Amino acid sequence: MKSTGIVRKVDELGRIVLPIELRRTYDLAVKDAIEIYTEDDKIILKKFQRSCIFCGSSENLIDYKDRTVCANCITELKGAAK
Ligand SMILES: [Zn+2]
Repeated sequence: MKSTGIVRKVDELGRIVLPIELRRTYDLAVKDAIEIYTEDDKIILKKFQRSCIFCGSSENLIDYKDRTVCANCITELKGAAK
């Protein structure tokens, strides 16, 4: 983990502002979704990216019954169903 040297204060509503340099570097636009993780004493922010529930791929995704699956896993499932 790399320190950015940036320190920000949390406001009354618990918000912090991500500096524009970080938003540019991580390609974060207004309304983009961020996932929040924790690890020991750390809070980790990660740009939310849709991914396949089986393999984690973010390519060729298809939504089916509120779940996201990639085309490769669908092909494998078809083979397993025979
Ligand atoms: Zn998959």
